[in-house]
Amino acid sequence: MIKLFNKVNEFKEYRKSLTSKSIGLVPTMGNLHSGHLSLISQSALENEVTIVTIFVNPLQFGPNEDFDKYPRTLEQDIQKIESLSIDRDILILSPSDPKEIYPDNFSTTISIKGLTENLCGASRPGHFDGVTTVVYQLFKIAAPKTAYFGQKDFQQQLVIKKMVNDLDLPVEVKTMPIVREESGLAKSSRNQYLSDQQILEALELNQTLNKISDILTNQTYLDASIDLNSLLEPIIKDSRWEYLEILDSENLQEITPKTNSAVILGALKIGSTRLIDNQVTKIQYAR
Ligand code: AMP
Repeated sequence: MIKLFNKVNEFKEYRKSLTSKSIGLVPTMGNLHSGHLSLISQSALENEVTIVTIFVNPLQFGPNEDFDKYPRTLEQDIQKIESLSIDRDILILSPSDPKEIYPDNFSTTISIKGLTENLCGASRPGHFDGVTTVVYQLFKIAAPKTAYFGQKDFQQQLVIKKMVNDLDLPVEVKTMPIVREESGLAKSSRNQYLSDQQILEALELNQTLNKISDILTNQTYLDASIDLNSLLEPIIKDSRWEYLEILDSENLQEITPKTNSAVILGALKIGSTRLIDNQVTKIQYAR
């Protein structure tokens, strides 16, 4: 059964009847693609009820970003969920107005220091405050046992885990792998802003991450004196790269000889479209 709610109060009323069920939450901004659908399928595999939220969250967009033009495609989104033919209950919460999530006079921000300050946090000031504030609200409304996020937004899933840990929220956060086009391009709602020519250009993002990952994995034991980020200097001279960094995948700090797993993260601008991608790579320093 798939049930759609546009009003948070009506959703909350219904939610009360589900007290004994295991509940999975998949927060999205809609315009669903197979990346989102993989999270929904995983939740439905592990939970009796899955709540999918579809909400283009104004708080996480900067003043010059694409909030107004962000694709809103609720009808097609529902059809895509239906086409999964899941035999468990799916509740879709698509608030009809931002006031459903942020009532008049709402003035609270959930803000995390440190982890939010580099990468997307540096290039999109306030973005992660918007993310943590909306996800906190959605956790409160949906009260899930487990919430599913994509590795595609690597920094985001770490930020959510940090919030859950710091505030001791009763939610388990699971991170699911990146779903890609056959070409390697990570699926994203923003890919549809790209022309055919720009899609070809965009492949550079994933290809560059793969190349760097190969370099790291082929050196079985890295020499601790190598400054890994110097590998990237020739690439990031190209101003389309907003960032390209190799960091510790646990805390997004510089890698140290203690790092077990690195993540290579990139943000590439193609025209006015900003695309992000990442690749986790095991590394081992010579001791
Ligand atoms: P969004 O609608 O862009 O806010 O994304 C909603 C959720 O889907 C987030 O947890 C994203 O990380 C996840 N997601 C987006 N794209 C992908 C992808 N290509 N593969 C897996 N998960 C994704």
